[in-house]
Amino acid sequence: MKKLSIKIKITVWYLLLMGLMAGLIVAFLLAISGSVYSQNAMEQLDQTLRTNLSQVSMSEGSLALGETFQFYQNGVYTLIYSQNEALLAGQVPVAFTAQEPFENGLTRLVHTGSSQYYVLDFWLPVGWEGGLWVRGLLEAPDRAQSMPALLWVAVVTLPLFLLLAAVGGYWIARRAFRPLEDITATADAISQASDLSARVTVPPGSNEFTRLASTFNQMFARLERSFEAETQFTADASHELRTPVSVIKSACEYAEKYGETPEEQRETIAMIHRQADKMSQLIGQLLSITRLDQGTETARREKIDLTDLVRTVCAEGPWPADGLVLEAGGPLLAWADKALITRLLQNLIDNGFKYGKPGGHVWVSLGTGPGEVLLTVRDDGKGIPPAEQEKVWQRFYQVDPARGEKSGAGLGLSMVQKIAQAHGGYMTLESDPAWGSAFTLHLPHREPER
Ligand code: ADP
Repeated sequence: MKKLSIKIKITVWYLLLMGLMAGLIVAFLLAISGSVYSQNAMEQLDQTLRTNLSQVSMSEGSLALGETFQFYQNGVYTLIYSQNEALLAGQVPVAFTAQEPFENGLTRLVHTGSSQYYVLDFWLPVGWEGGLWVRGLLEAPDRAQSMPALLWVAVVTLPLFLLLAAVGGYWIARRAFRPLEDITATADAISQASDLSARVTVPPGSNEFTRLASTFNQMFARLERSFEAETQFTADASHELRTPVSVIKSACEYAEKYGETPEEQRETIAMIHRQADKMSQLIGQLLSITRLDQGTETARREKIDLTDLVRTVCAEGPWPADGLVLEAGGPLLAWADKALITRLLQNLIDNGFKYGKPGGHVWVSLGTGPGEVLLTVRDDGKGIPPAEQEKVWQRFYQVDPARGEKSGAGLGLSMVQKIAQAHGGYMTLESDPAWGSAFTLHLPHREPER
C-alpha cells in the first residue's frame, strides 16, 4: 500500500467505504423485507381465519359450516377443535407435528421439525358444551427462501456498483490531482532545464493547489534572485581581483623586458606592493562578509567600554590627527565584539577621509537612544545623492567607481552592515551633498542571549 500512488490509495479507500455502505444497505433491506414479510403473513392468517370464523356455528348439537367456509385458503389451514382439544374438522398438515397449546387471539411462530408455522387460535363460544377452538396454520417459508430475490439482486448489482464506484473514484481522484501533476511536471521541467525564470501555471480559484503553485513560484523567484546575486557576486569578485593581478603582471613584464634603473625598480615594487595590498584587503573583506553571512564568523559580544575602544581605534589609526575629532564623554558600556567593532569603525573613518574634501574632518561620536547605543561617524565630504543612499550597502556598489588606485571595491559598507547585523543591530545613513554624510551604528543595549 505504501508504494501505491495517492490516487490509487484514495480509490481503494473510497471503494472500501462504498462496499461497506452497500453491504450495510443490503443488510438493512434484508432485515426490513423479512419483517414486512412476516407482518403480511400474519395479517393474511388473521383475515382468512376471521372469515372462516363467521361461518362456524352449532346447530342441534352438531357443527355447521357456512357455504363460504374453506379448510384451505391462501395457504391457511383452518382446523376446528372441541373444547377439550379434540380435532372435529379440518386436516393438520403433515409437517406440523408440534403439540401447541391453544391461546386465544395470539399469533405466534411455532417451529416444528424442519418447518415453521404461524399459529393463531380463536375461542368460539357456541353450542351448549361451552365452545370451540378454531385454529389457523400458515407455513412460514424459511428465511433464506423468503428473500432470494433481494439477495440475488444484491449479489448481481453489488460488484457492478463497486466497479462503478472504483471507476468513478479513480476518475474523481485523477481530476482532483491534475493540477498537482501539472505543477510537478513544470517544476520538474524547470529543474531539468535549470531555467529558474520559468514559472508554474497557477490554477484558477483559491484552493490548496493554487496556494501550492504560488508558493512554488515564490520559491523559484527567490532562488532566481539569489542565483543571480551569486553569479553577479562571482563576476564582480573575479573582475575586482583581475584588475590588480593584470597591473602586477604587466609591471613585471615591463621590468623583465626593459631592465629598469634601481629607482624605477623601487617604484615598480612599490606599485606591486600596493596592488597586492589591495587584493589582500579585497580577499579579507570578501572572506569576512561570507563568514558573517554564513554564520561561521559570529559576533562574540562581551561587555566593553565603547568609549575606550573608540578612543584607541582613533588614536592608533593612520588618519590625520587634526582631521579626526572624537566626541565622547565618560565610559559607555555596550555588548560588542571588539575586533568586529574595530573593523567597522576603521572602514567608516577610512571612507570619511576617502570621500571627504581635502583638509576635511571626520567626527566620531557616541550616544544612547531608547534601548540602544549609538556610534556615529560623520564627515563634511561630498555626501551621497539620495538616489544612491540605499544602494551603497550592496556588495561591490560604488557611487563613483572611476576613482583610480585609491578607491576600494565597494565592499566596505556591505561588511559594515553585516557586522551591525551580527550584533543584532543595524546601520542608518544620513547624507546630503550640501554637508556630508553620517553613518550610525545602532547597537542593542540588552545582553545577548546565550
Ligand atoms: P569602497 O571600497 O568603494 O569605499 P564602500 O562599500 O565602503 O566601498 O562604499 C561604497 C560607496 O559608497 C563608495 O564607493 C562611495 O561612493 C560611497 N561612500 C561610502 N562612504 C562615503 C562617504 N563617507 N561619503 C561619500 N560617499 C561615500
